[in-house]
Amino acid sequence: KALRQAVIAGNWKMNKNRAEAAELINALKPIAADKTCGVIICVPYTNLETALELTKGTNIKVGAENCHFKKSGAFTGEISADMLKEMGVEYVIIGHSERRQYFAETDLTVNRRTKAALSAGLKVILCVGEMLAEREDGITEDVVELQTVAAFTGISAEDAKNVIIAYEPVWAIGTGKTATADQAEEVCGFIRKVVANKYGKEIADGMTIQYGGSMNEKNCAELLAKEDIDGGLIGGASLVAEKFGVLLAEA
Ligand code: PEP
Repeated sequence: KALRQAVIAGNWKMNKNRAEAAELINALKPIAADKTCGVIICVPYTNLETALELTKGTNIKVGAENCHFKKSGAFTGEISADMLKEMGVEYVIIGHSERRQYFAETDLTVNRRTKAALSAGLKVILCVGEMLAEREDGITEDVVELQTVAAFTGISAEDAKNVIIAYEPVWAIGTGKTATADQAEEVCGFIRKVVANKYGKEIADGMTIQYGGSMNEKNCAELLAKEDIDGGLIGGASLVAEKFGVLLAEA
């Protein structure tokens, strides 16, 4: 863990108009400035320009929440990885469970989007995680292994270095129900083994593996103290500067 920098990434989801985004970022800038962890905010497409402008020269990096797998074409409503890269966006979330649940995202499309993002020069925050029924059936590891292996299919070791994995149990996202630190640590450690099987120990040991799922200013310390948890992907608590600030301070 000492080798890895913790990274706290906010996932704003479909929240904040432009004025609200500017207000939040301006509040965040001084809070983030002296922190040693990596700081990323993933914002709606409509806030990317504002976020890029306002974070110039700061330690806050900007990400999008999805991208399409084709470079261009007849894909109404979609945004390509190249379009994001051209704007100066650095990160993109791929495979968030809300996309898998509500927008028919599959392991195949997650893999295609991941490949497209990496070849455009973006860094990827890849989300994996089991549903409640899967945890109750005792197949959490099978699910996250399948999702992880599928997502990395056809991706070189060199490109894999530009991926952060976010372990997000679906039952913990937006529910106020957090995985215990031990549960989160167990699965993050397991994911690191899956990565080691594919790319070797060195890449696995260097990979940032975050926990996500109702992580907030109150419960973050215990989670972030764990060996295999290298930060967090934060939904609700990333929308309030002071709360996000506590997470940055703990990481
Ligand atoms: C997320 O959106 O990735 C997330 C973890 O949300 P929340 O923190 O609100 O559960």
